[in-house]
Amino acid sequence: MTTSISTSDKSDVETPTTARLRAVVCRECDWVAALPQRAEGQRASCPRCGHHLTEAAQRDAQKPLAWAIATLVALGLVFCFSFLSFSAYGVGHVMAFGDTWHALTADDYGTLAVVMLAFTAAFPALYLSVLIYLCSAIQLGRPLPAQVALARTLRPLEPWMMSDVFIVGVLVALIKIVSLASIQVHTGFIAFCVFSVCMLRTSQLIDWTSLWDRLAPRPDASKDIRTGMSARAQGVVACRGCDTAFVADHGPRCPRCNKRHRLHRIDRVQLTWALLATATLAYIPANLYPVLLTTQLGNSEPQTIAGGVLHLLHAGDWPIAAVIFIASIVVPISKIAALGWLCVVARRPHAAASHSRMRLFRVTEKIGRWSMIDVFVVATLATLVQAGSLMSISPGPGVIAFGLVVIVTMIAAHTFDTRLLWSDRTHTWGPAETSAYPAHHSSA
Ligand SMILES: [Zn+2]
Ligand SMILES: [Zn+2]
Repeated sequence: MTTSISTSDKSDVETPTTARLRAVVCRECDWVAALPQRAEGQRASCPRCGHHLTEAAQRDAQKPLAWAIATLVALGLVFCFSFLSFSAYGVGHVMAFGDTWHALTADDYGTLAVVMLAFTAAFPALYLSVLIYLCSAIQLGRPLPAQVALARTLRPLEPWMMSDVFIVGVLVALIKIVSLASIQVHTGFIAFCVFSVCMLRTSQLIDWTSLWDRLAPRPDASKDIRTGMSARAQGVVACRGCDTAFVADHGPRCPRCNKRHRLHRIDRVQLTWALLATATLAYIPANLYPVLLTTQLGNSEPQTIAGGVLHLLHAGDWPIAAVIFIASIVVPISKIAALGWLCVVARRPHAAASHSRMRLFRVTEKIGRWSMIDVFVVATLATLVQAGSLMSISPGPGVIAFGLVVIVTMIAAHTFDTRLLWSDRTHTWGPAETSAYPAHHSSA
């Protein structure tokens, strides 16, 4: 049943020394390299910046299909069982995962519920459903309606799926209240952990290059593309949706997936600046207002982010205090500062500094989503700890501002065009740039 199309069969770039190879443009540094046919499990890296040009080759659509179905089933099970329970002063409350919506809307924090359910369940469910649809199309060997448009939606969803961050958030929440109440973990939480692991495995199994090759034929628009130089220098762009390299003169849209393209996004630096300014402004109320309100035996106590860290330190929970301090204070501030600095230097690409600037951007982009830990801690505690005036926890306005900071800085990182960090004249990776073979290595 497996449909197998070799990536080199339709290659259209010829070099003097080799048979036909495909030109691929690195989406991070804009370098054009020639992609040879990969063996199963091999992936190609950019010879200039080291970015993975392709995922590990996976010719078989059956594996990702099977894992995606299993992951979706595990997510369904999360909603079928109770998630966590707590008891204190003789009263208790059992929480189901879906209760988040009712509990937070009752506290007038529907936005928080939307953010939490979208990042932990809705986006992954959408992603998995689309993936199952696309893999089914490949397995059936015939195109299904809207498959190209749907395939384009998948990769932008990836940074917004945060089941791993949510699990850490739940664990932090449990450690925070374990001294005040007795806590029990139920089947729904176990199912969520299984779902999170399966989600990770599913996303590792997708080979976007092979997937796109099977969903839509690669256009014959890259004959004139030269490897071993930047794409911008020859008026070539790489589609952000399907990674097809094509000459920009041919039209404002990708000939394969119809996505709009921009040759050079220097104008977007201003957009990144605007988003960083918004995040900086939102960070002020995020710290001034309480992120949660704890009621115990009739006494209410508001807690800010810094107050929460100090409270944990006084209680002796310094590892958790360190997690919250890093995720909620160090990461957002350093992310805003790093992106701001990169926006400044983007206008002056410097050959010797390109690699270190690129590394800084990658670290900034990777760690940014972990700041959501505190938002998930508040959402979990507010849903779980519901025993009226005896003991209850509700969100404070600071958490909405803080969530905004995290989301806006993630969008700011997404809008930043890393190609601006590399000069067209930057030939830093050695004398063999005209042959432009991607580094090839095996992966699991
Ligand atoms: Zn690169
Ligand atoms: Zn495209």
